[in-house]
Amino acid sequence: MDKPADALQRLRRVHEDAAVAVLRSAGALSRAELTQRTGLSRTTLFSIISELIERDAVVEVEALPAEPRGRGRPAALIALNPSAGLLIGLDVGRRRVRLAIANVAHEIIATGMADIPAGADAPAQAEAAVRLVRRVGEEHGIRLGALEAIGLGLVGIVDDPSLPAGAVPARHAPVARRLAEEFGVRVAVDNNARLAALAESTWGAARSVGDLVYVRWSVGVGGGFVVGGRLLRGAHGAAGEIGHVSLDPEGPPCHCGGRGCLERRIGSQALLEVCAARGIALTGLDALVAAAQDRVPGVCEVISAAAADLGRILADTVVQLDPARVVVGGEFASLGSLVLDPIRQAIDGLALPKIGRRIGVTPADLGVNASAMGAIAFLLNEEPAIPGHLRP
Ligand SMILES: [Zn+2]
Repeated sequence: MDKPADALQRLRRVHEDAAVAVLRSAGALSRAELTQRTGLSRTTLFSIISELIERDAVVEVEALPAEPRGRGRPAALIALNPSAGLLIGLDVGRRRVRLAIANVAHEIIATGMADIPAGADAPAQAEAAVRLVRRVGEEHGIRLGALEAIGLGLVGIVDDPSLPAGAVPARHAPVARRLAEEFGVRVAVDNNARLAALAESTWGAARSVGDLVYVRWSVGVGGGFVVGGRLLRGAHGAAGEIGHVSLDPEGPPCHCGGRGCLERRIGSQALLEVCAARGIALTGLDALVAAAQDRVPGVCEVISAAAADLGRILADTVVQLDPARVVVGGEFASLGSLVLDPIRQAIDGLALPKIGRRIGVTPADLGVNASAMGAIAFLLNEEPAIPGHLRP
């Protein structure tokens, strides 16, 4: 059983979290307003604010003008310290690492990107990520000493039920450990497509939508579900792996160990092979998307048929999860109606008729930085990054 002192300490931290959360969403407030909004007693709130000021987590920013006939000195406003509480989101993909840096007020203050050499192992990926953070930090004059935590998005299933919650799975340890050592902060890890779903529901195309199906169609096919306002992780960290729904048990083997997966049919490599078989030689994903934008004969048909395949799987998902919205991200989503129309038609035709037609199918909003931003949202939503609370 906890000692009473421990329990008091925990209660105090809950109160601190409440005060910081209110300051995060509302900006600068007087002590009186903060007391009212947190519902804490005046004594408790004042004591907590004093301690947060001592720790540099919050600052007194300015005084409210005194009432015309008011007495006494004007009330100071309390705000989160803008030079504390930096959060970094990193998205380590197959080809690139992307970075977003947010200040304590949730504003994205810098973004950046670096290529990863083909076939780079985890330590090489980690080095690319570290160099990117250092470079962007210098370019924007960002003091990394104020860094509180790093959210890290990685490809593949990110979870290991044999480890305690929040621990970094061994497979992903090299990147996470290197970042934690380099910057002296805690690193929280999740799947990068799932993080993009979280970003879209926090800042993007499904902002304030509590139930969302997100799919990212790119080299591979990933996704994420937000259910009742929370990102669904699943018991094994595999929730949202739409790309590995099987279309054909006799189909070609997939790297996941399954057969006939959606990703094997509509991932960019598969589509490049279909194009090549039709005599259209394209070098990679970017060339494929560019050819579709240029309406190269044959390419649009290949991509629209693939979108219909994706739509059929999404229609199944829609029946089972009943989302308010389906958001399509990744490079293929930039093709607009060529991709969105077949998906919409499949959902209209195959999902429960009364529900399918009410579900909006929209392109993602946040572009290439969605996963990096989602890694920041993950720190804010799932693991509150309270100034002074995070430890490496
Ligand atoms: Zn698979």
